Order: sequence, then C-alpha cells, then structure tokens
Amino acid sequence: MTELQQAPITLALSKGRIFEETLPLLQDAGIEVSEDPETSRKLILSTNQPDIRIIIVRASDVPTYVEYGAADLGIAGKDVLVEHAGGAHPGALYQPIDLQIARCRLCVATREGFDYEAAVQQGARLRIATKYVRAARDHFAAKGVYVDLIKLYGSMELAPLIGLADAIVDLVSTGNTLRANGLVAVEDIMPISSRLIVNRASLKLRRKKIQPMLDVFQRASQETIA
Ligand code: AMP
Repeated sequence: MTELQQAPITLALSKGRIFEETLPLLQDAGIEVSEDPETSRKLILSTNQPDIRIIIVRASDVPTYVEYGAADLGIAGKDVLVEHAGGAHPGALYQPIDLQIARCRLCVATREGFDYEAAVQQGARLRIATKYVRAARDHFAAKGVYVDLIKLYGSMELAPLIGLADAIVDLVSTGNTLRANGLVAVEDIMPISSRLIVNRASLKLRRKKIQPMLDVFQRASQETIA
C-alpha cells in the first residue's frame, strides 16, 4: 500500500456552526469525534474510527486544505467557495453535495433611512464595505451599479455607522446583528448553505474509503431537504 492509501481520511471543518451542524451527520454514520474544538486547543481531532480524522481550520482556509490534498474532504459555506473560486489549482475541488446546513443569506445592508433604491437609480457611486469582495463585485456588475469596494475582515456593521461606507455586503441569519446596529437588509444577493468539497485526486485514489462518507452526507442532505 502507498503512504497515501494508509493515511487516515482527513475531513476539514471550521469551528462554530459548521462543526456543530456536521456532528449529527457524522454521528448518524457512527463517527464520534473525540473532542470538542470549542474547549480543546487541538487542531487534529481523532474519531472512534482509526481511519477518519478531523482537522479544525479557519472557514476561509477549508478550500485551500482540500485543494492541495492536505485534507481529502471539507465542508465550507457557499460564501467561502465563491470567494475562493479558481484557487491555486482550478479543477482540484469537486463539490458534489449541498448539505443544506449553516444556512443564511448574503445581503446588501444599509443604515435605516438610507434610500438605497434611489441611490442606485440616480447612478450614485456607492461605497461598499465587505469581506465578500468577489460576490459583491459580481452582484453590482450584473446590476450595472458602479461601486467602490472596501475590503474588511470583520465587524462590517460598523462601516455605514461611522461613514466608511454607504452599505455593506454581509451574511444575515436571524437579522439580529443588523437590527442591533440600526441597519436593514435592502437586497438579497444569494442564499448560502454549506457544501461538501472533495479533492478530486483523493476521490480517485481513495474511492473505497471516501465513497461511504459521500453516501452518508448524500443521505443526510436528502433528509434535511425532506
Ligand atoms: P444574525 O445576527 O443571526 O443575522 O447573524 C449575522 C452575523 O453572523 C454576521 O456577522 C454574519 O457574518 C454571521 N453569520 C450568520 N450566518 C452565518 C453563517 N452561516 N456562516 C458564517 N457566518 C454567519
């Protein structure tokens, strides 16, 4: 057997909603994770199955680990996948299953009282602060709206409040964060959910081990939709 065939199957996950909502899917497949990443500092978590391990990485790094084959599989939000599109090895990522977990919406939001529609109709050049530069650029280009995009890495809600931007593009789930900051969603860009991603070479070389996991996730996603 080659070294690759002997190595455990590695699944890349991020902490928080994705990890929490993936756990029940793994449990359904009889896979129990040894530790909780919220309390443990470990980044490699073993499972009750010696040939399956979990690595904990930043959400936006999940596609990179899978693309390079450092992880065989990963779970990432569509927001992350849109921003990562192309990557360093185009075609290395196979995206077979929408797991329908960690669902939310990518939206344009402004301060309450800002007339977004009027600004768009008047052809005003809008300043948009966002972490999701590619999705925002594509959205406004498709609408024919001129924008100056300002890349931020967090706390985007602050930008319209202190005059850094006219609007933000951010993920909205309950809407509580926007409300708490006097902002309102004025436009939906796309629904977001998390997808299973697979390294194409791993899938080819390690199909016997990976296919049962794909089957589990496929069944789980169908149950979520049903
Ligand atoms: P909420 O207050 O429930 O609307 O959540 C909004 C905040 O949570 C924003 O800061 C978002 O960036 C973040 N958020 C909401 N849903 C997700 C998700 N599925 N994945 C990552 N971040 C999210």
